[in-house]
Amino acid sequence: MNHWIERAAALRPETRLFIDGDFRAAADGATFETIAPRDGSVIASVSAGGEADIDAAVRAAARAFESGVWSRADRRERQRVLIRLSDLMLEHLEELALLESLDSGHPIGDSLRVDVPNAARVFRWYAEAIDKVSDEVAPAPENALALVTREALGVVGAVVPWNYPLIITAWKLAPALATGNSVVLKPAELTSLSALKLAELAVEAGVPAGVFNVVPGLGPVAGQALGRHPLVDKLTFTGSPAVGRGFLTYAGESNGKQVSLELGGKSPQVVLADVADIEACASAVAWGIFYNAGQTCHGGSRLIVDERVHDELVDAVLRVGRGLVQGDPLDEATQIGTIASERQLTRVLDYVDVARSEGAVVHGGSQLRPDGLEGGYYVEPTVFDRVDNASRIGREEIFGPALSVTTVSGAEEAIRVANESEYGLAASVWTSDLTTAHRAARSLRAGTVWVNTFDVADVITPFGGFKGSGSGRDRSLHALDSYTALKTTWIDLG
Ligand code: NAD
Repeated sequence: MNHWIERAAALRPETRLFIDGDFRAAADGATFETIAPRDGSVIASVSAGGEADIDAAVRAAARAFESGVWSRADRRERQRVLIRLSDLMLEHLEELALLESLDSGHPIGDSLRVDVPNAARVFRWYAEAIDKVSDEVAPAPENALALVTREALGVVGAVVPWNYPLIITAWKLAPALATGNSVVLKPAELTSLSALKLAELAVEAGVPAGVFNVVPGLGPVAGQALGRHPLVDKLTFTGSPAVGRGFLTYAGESNGKQVSLELGGKSPQVVLADVADIEACASAVAWGIFYNAGQTCHGGSRLIVDERVHDELVDAVLRVGRGLVQGDPLDEATQIGTIASERQLTRVLDYVDVARSEGAVVHGGSQLRPDGLEGGYYVEPTVFDRVDNASRIGREEIFGPALSVTTVSGAEEAIRVANESEYGLAASVWTSDLTTAHRAARSLRAGTVWVNTFDVADVITPFGGFKGSGSGRDRSLHALDSYTALKTTWIDLG
C-alpha cells in the first residue's frame, strides 16, 4: 500500500463549521457525508450549515469589519498575517494536498506541485501587493483637494465549486482579505475539507476572529442563505451558469449586493492549417481538455480544426490521450484522476450517449473500474469527432474528459465557429502566421486567448469571461477592484 493511502486512512479532518474564530456543529446538528471519488467510500460527516449558521457567520463577519480589527489594521499588519498564512500552507503542504486529492479526486502529484503551492502563492502575492498600490488625487480646482481612495466593501460572501477547491478559494479570499474585508466562505459540498484546514491555518497565522468564516453546507440552503443575506455587501461565485444567475436573483431580491460570476465555458482550441508543430499542438490540445479529467472551467473542450490537418491532429490527440496514466488519485504516478462525484460521472456518461445520438464518431467514452477501486468515478479520455458546433455536444459544458472536434475550412470560418457559443471564457489559436495570430486573438470573444499554447496562467493576469461565462475578474491587481469601492473626498482649501 502506498504511503498516501495509509495517511488517508489515518486522517481525522476537521469537519465542523468555522464561525467567529471557533469550530462548532451546525445549529440544528445537521451533517452530510463527503465521499472519496477514488473509491466511493465515505471520508467523513461534515456539518451542514443552515440559514441560522450563515446568519451567525455573516453577523460575526460584519461585527469584525465594524470593529476595525482587520479592516482598519495597518496594511503591513494584514500583509504580515497573510504572508504567514501562505508560509503555513507550504508548511502543511502534504496534509492540504492529501485532503484535496482525497476529497476531489485530483492526482496527488498535481495537488503537491500545482494546487497547494499556487494557492499559497496567491496569498503571498496579494499580501505583497497591498502596500504597493496607491490611491489617486484628482485634478480638482486650485481651491480644493479631491482624493479618490479605495475602501473595503465590508462582508464578502464567497461560494466556490469542487473542481479546484483551494485555488479558486485563494483567488477570492486573498484579495478580499488583503483589502480589509471580512469573508464568509461556502465551499462546495463535495469538497469542504481543505477550506476547513485553511481556517485552522488562518487562526494560527493571526487572522482575527470573525474576519474569515467557513460554512460548509448544501447549495440551495447555505449558498442561497448567503446570497440573500442583507448584511453581505459582495457575493463572488464560481460554478454553473444556472446557479450563478440565481445569485443575481438573490441579490436583486435582497439588498442589491454586488455579484461577480465565473460560470465556465466551452473553450475552443482553434488549429489552423499552417500550425507549425502538430505534435506539440496535439499535446497541448489533449492536456487542455484531459487535465483534471476535464473538470476545468476554461478546459479546451472544443477543437475547431482546419480540414487539411484534421486527420493528423486527431490521431495525435488520441495517441496522447491513450498514453496518459489514469488511476488512483493517491498514486503519485497518476496523471488523470477521477470525476468528482457519482452525479457528475452520470452526467458525463449521459453526454456520451447524446454524442452517439447526434451522430458524432465516439473514441473512448467508457467508465473505467480499476482493480480495488471499482466504486470510484473514472472515465477514459474521450474524443467526439465530426461534431456539429450547433449540436448539444458542441454547445453544452460537459465538464469531463471529453473533447468535441468540429472541422472547418480556413481561418475565417474557424473564428466564426469558435465564437458561436454562449460562453466566452478562454480560447486558443494555433498558426505560424503572425498577422493571422493577432487577428484571431482580437476576434475571439474570450477573457483569455492563448496563441500557440494552452493553459498558461498565473496570478499576475486577470481571469474571467465574456458573454455567458460571467462578469468580473479573479486574479491580478484588477481583482482588488472587485473587493473595494471608490470613495471621493473633497476638501475645501479656501
Ligand atoms: P454548482 O454551480 O451547483 O455548484 C457550485 C457552488 O454553488 C457550490 O458551492 C454549491 O453548493 C453552490 N450552489 C449550488 N446550488 C445552489 C443554489 N441553489 N443556491 C446557492 N448556491 C448553490 O455546480 P455543480 O452542480 O456542482 O456542477 C454542475 C455543473 O456546473 C458542472 O457539470 C459544470 O458544467 C459546471 N461547473 C462549473 C464550474 C466552473 O469552474 N465554472 C465549477 C463546477 C461546476
